[in-house]
Parts: sequence; C-alpha cells; structure tokens
Amino acid sequence: MSITYPFTAVVGQDDLRLALLLNAVSPAVGGVLVRGEKGTAKTTTVRAVAALLPDVAVVPGCRFSCDPAAPDPGCPDGPHDPDPAGARRATKLVELPVGASEDRLVGALDFERALAEGVKAFEPGLLAEAHRGVLYVDEVNLLNDHLVDVLLDAAATGASYVEREGVSVRHAARFLLVGTMNPEEGELRPQLLDRFGLTVEVTASRETDERVEVVRRRLAYDADPAAFAARWAEEERRTRERIAAARALLPSVVLGDTVLRQIAATCAAFEVDGMRADIVMARTATALAAWAGRTEVTADDVRQAALLALPHRRRRNPFDAPGLDEQKLDEALEQARQEAEQAAAEQAANDVDERPGPDDDPEPDPDPDGGPGPDGGPEGGPGGDGPGGGGGVPPQREDTAGPEAGDSAPDAGAEPASPQPGAGAGAAAGAEQPPSAAGEPYRTRALTVPGLGEGAAGRRSRARTAQGRTTGAELPHGRLAALHLTATLRAAAPHQRARGRAGAGLVVRRADLRQAVREGREGNLVLFVVDASGSMAARKRMVAVKGAVLSLLLDAYQRRDKVGLVTFRGAGAELALPPTSSVDAGAARLEKLPTGGRTPLAAGLLRAHEVLRVERLRDASRRPLLVVVTDGRATGGPEPLPRAARAARLLAASGVASVVVDCETGPVRLGLAGTLARDLGAAAVTLEELRADTVSALVKDVRRAA
Ligand SMILES: [Zn+2]
Repeated sequence: MSITYPFTAVVGQDDLRLALLLNAVSPAVGGVLVRGEKGTAKTTTVRAVAALLPDVAVVPGCRFSCDPAAPDPGCPDGPHDPDPAGARRATKLVELPVGASEDRLVGALDFERALAEGVKAFEPGLLAEAHRGVLYVDEVNLLNDHLVDVLLDAAATGASYVEREGVSVRHAARFLLVGTMNPEEGELRPQLLDRFGLTVEVTASRETDERVEVVRRRLAYDADPAAFAARWAEEERRTRERIAAARALLPSVVLGDTVLRQIAATCAAFEVDGMRADIVMARTATALAAWAGRTEVTADDVRQAALLALPHRRRRNPFDAPGLDEQKLDEALEQARQEAEQAAAEQAANDVDERPGPDDDPEPDPDPDGGPGPDGGPEGGPGGDGPGGGGGVPPQREDTAGPEAGDSAPDAGAEPASPQPGAGAGAAAGAEQPPSAAGEPYRTRALTVPGLGEGAAGRRSRARTAQGRTTGAELPHGRLAALHLTATLRAAAPHQRARGRAGAGLVVRRADLRQAVREGREGNLVLFVVDASGSMAARKRMVAVKGAVLSLLLDAYQRRDKVGLVTFRGAGAELALPPTSSVDAGAARLEKLPTGGRTPLAAGLLRAHEVLRVERLRDASRRPLLVVVTDGRATGGPEPLPRAARAARLLAASGVASVVVDCETGPVRLGLAGTLARDLGAAAVTLEELRADTVSALVKDVRRAA
C-alpha cells in the first residue's frame, strides 16, 4: 500500500475523494476540477485516490496501452494478435506540466529517421501515456492556449491526432481528466470548464481540520507503525473492493422518472448552458447510487450530483460566490418531485380507465416509482436514503454538502448589492464615487509589441510560429519541427556522389535537414494599468476612459491575447483582474471599478512590474504589452512624480513594450502623460487617436518609439 494514503484520505477532502471515486466507478462522469488556494494538499489526495484505481490489462510492449481484449485496430504499435491474457499494470497517473511543449503532450514525429531511414518514427507523448489512466494538470487555468486546444480535441474524440508535413499518427487517448486551479489566478476557458464533469472547492478552513488529522495520524503511526499500516492496508483494500463492486453494479442502476424530472428541473433552475449538464448529473447520480450499493437513484443522489456537477456550469459573473444556492436547489428538487407525483397519479388514472379489468393486469408492478401512492416520491425505494453500502468509506453526503452551504449562501446574496467588489484597503482612503458606466466600445487601432516573438498563436504581434507563411530555412535547433523540403534536398544534392548513391532516391543524412522558418502572429499578454483616482473621475471622462479600456479588451479578445488589469487609486494599487483569457471577467471588473481618492501612479506601475515578472516565469514566450491609461498625474506620499518616474524607468529596463493612453482633457494641459511615456520608452496616444477611424499614424508611432 502507499504510505501517503492514510495521511491524505482525511477530513476536509471528503468531497474531493468522493468526486474522484465516482469517476473511478463511472469514467463517463468526465473528470474533476479542484478549485482552491495553493497548498491545500490537492495533489496528494489525487495521487492517493489514483493509487486505488483498479489495475488495467494491457498488450505487452504496446506503448499505447492497448486492451488485449479489444486492441485498437489503428494502434501505431499494432496490429496486435488477440491475446485475452495480456499483462496487468497499475493505472497510471500522468502529470501534464503547465509549461509543457505541444510535442511533449501529443508526441513527436522524428523527421530525421523518416527521411534518412524511411521509417515512420513516432515518440508517444503524455496523451498516449495517460490513455486508460488519469491525466493530472496542476494549475490547469495557466495552461497555454494551444495545449488547451489539444486537450479539448482529445477529450472530445477520445483520440490524439498528430500531423506534421503530411505524416500523421493517430492513437486512442481516453483518460480521466483531473485539474486543479486557484481561481484568483484567472478562470478557465468555458469550453475547457465544460469538459470537467465535476468541480470541488477546497478551502483553507478545511485545510486546518485536515492538518490536525494528519498530525493525529502521524502520532498514531509513530506510536505503533505496524498496527497503523495494517489498519490502513485494510481500509485501502476495502475501498478497492468497493470500487470494483460499484462498477459491477453500475449497469443495473435505474434512473426513475421522478429523479429524471428532478435532474432536468435543477438544470433549468440554475440556467446551465447546453445539455451536457443534464447528462453529467444523471451519470453522477447513477454512480452515487452504485457507490452506495443501491440499484435505484434517489433524490439525495440527485442533490449531491447537482452540488458536484453544476457549480461550474451555471451562468455566473466573476464575483459570485462558488458553489450552489442550496435553498434554490431544494426548491427545484421538491417542485419536480411534486410534478412527478402528479404525473404519475394522472398516468395511473389513465391506466385504470384503459385497463380491460382490474384483475387482468398481467404484471402487478411493485416498482414504487410508477406507483400511484404517496410512496412514489424520491425516497420511495426501501432504504433508499441511507448512505448504505458495507464498504470502508461512506459517501458522507451531508458532511460534504454542509460547509459549502455555509460558505456560499450568504455571500451569494450579498455580493451583487455591493458596489465595490474587491476594492480592498484603497476604499477607505479617499472620497469614493459610485462606478460610472463605460462608454460604447469601438474598434481600436492595432497596438503591437515590436520585434519578432515566439509566443502562442494569436493575432497581435509578429512572431515565429508553427503555422503561417514560410519565410526561410535554417539548421534546426534541437528537434526538427517543420521540415523545409527544398532546402533539405538542396543541402543533400552536392554530396550524392561521395555518398555512393546508387538507386533512384537521394541519400539524405541528418546534417542535411533544414527547418522551415515561418512567420505568423502571436497573442500577447496585454496588461492594463488604469488610473481610477479622483483626478480621473471627472464623471464624463471616466465614461470615456472605461469605453476605451473596454474597446481594447474586446480587441484583445479578438486577437487571442491574455489580459490583466491593475488599477490604482486611494492608498495603493490593486490587481483587479489577474492575467486571464476570459475577457468577460475583465469587462465585468471594469464595469464595477470604483473611482476616487489620490493618484498613486508609482504603486500602479510597480504592481504591473510585479505581475509581469510572475507572468514571465509562467510563460516566457508570451510577450507582454503594457497599456497605461492615465493623465500622468501622481499624488499621495512624498515626491509622487519622481517616484512614478523611477517606477517607469524600472519597467522600461525590464524590456516591456508599453503604450500610454493619455486621458488629459480640457483647455489647459500639463502634458504629464508624455513625460511618463518618455520614461517608459512608450508611445503616447490620446483617447481620440485610439479609435481606428482617427487619421493618425499610430502603429508607426508605436514601433518608432520602441
Ligand atoms: Zn497497441
């Protein structure tokens, strides 16, 4: 047994364990997304439960984990002879690092061998390794966009497909997707969010309980290691047996009419998008019943399934509390139950009318769901509402649901009324005005990062990319990514006689290989630094400023950028929107941006510097573009302007490309934004010049300045 297991299978992560175990019982549930702060032992829990998954039978030597009972006919290592025995190995947990290359994920075609030896050589990637196992992505919200696309394709088709230069490889890739994320660091793309069957919130308060329990168990272990190990080995064995039993029971589990109605009604009540939510809920409820050792899904199963499957699917804005409104959930469940009861009664009445005679009924139906009596309700099944099951770990649904209710219900009510979400300490510092609306968005001029980047595909700045037009050839650095055929043949041609070419084909050596240099466009990280102080808050001007930022946000969305928002006002600066691909979140934050107070420009710039430093660690290839929206004024603290100038020069020294959007208006202008732009090495543009239809050579200005 794994010794980590007893230290992780503890209170506080019951719902995470349950969610993972339900996936073990029914892989169709579709994976788990774990939301919570860093350091909440998410990873250890995931590993511990993965270790409990049943072994898989594999074809010996197949790198694609073919099932010997039904080998993949298209397996790159195949064809395999049918071999009912095969070999057995533990289910793998494969970790996808956030910074992995696409080759690492999908596998790599070896062009050198393909050309020089004429064989199709494919080195499997993580998707092949995770087939029939668990694919674990820590901080999945920080995953590069192109990896997300690959992941979505694989999740949707159950296969991985690689094509390079006309050579293609396809193999099966079905895995249990488990991701963790810290929501404060940005949200997931909705398509990826939808791919996770269940979500679980892991909170810091639970972590405390968990730590206490870990210490307690550690002491027990130290006191008597042998007894401790024996106790937990037994626990682990029972859980494995229970998973196996639930899997066997799963096909016999019945979803009655009442619970089906309850599932549909719950999804409708929470306004979830699409049909996937209903299906995932049905599968989860079925798995819950099997896990509890029942063959009938109860209303309790539906309730628990909703808590796991719906929080990330309901429509919500970024300030909503996580989890579900449980009162609303109970109302939806109860209403659907009553409707089902009524429908059943009507059906029964019709049946009575249509029957030739009461005694001729061929099948006296004992099924309580179909019955006309009051027992036809959700808990109609005998013993239906207990946790049931004789296994080692009861599902503990009340415990799991409890804390979520406490966390989410009051917040959900309070948040929408609050005019200043996340305003923090700055709120107290100055006269605050209610947020002003944003002006109508418009098409903006293209702001770009100068030079040639190497970031993820997008539509903003020039970059070396995998796609795009070929602009030249070069010797490959490391593995050959895109073959430049003509250049390769040209390099091989002079050596043919020396290499003793005899037949029709050219003799190509590794040293001849040339790589295509391609140029396209990349997406960038556009970090906005917006002055929200009193000096900017002259109401009409703030409307224009918000309109400008909103326009730039929409532009960033169309260009597939990541965006972030730093605001400064009052006592300091705030990261109002951590870098994310969700522009909706940016727009929502902007809408509610409080204004007023002093103008700590230096704090805003320093905060931006810090954010960019962290983002560079995360993804060095995504080049940032800093957009400072200000009139250049700085107040508060000693020497506000010189401090701002120093902060600007610090940013300039870090090499970040920036643009100052000058918001100064009125007959008397100080021109402070121009000074700031010089310190930043940035171009300065006015609000008017930002519009695409303004006659101005803005793009040239931006490039010239950099
Ligand atoms: Zn195979």
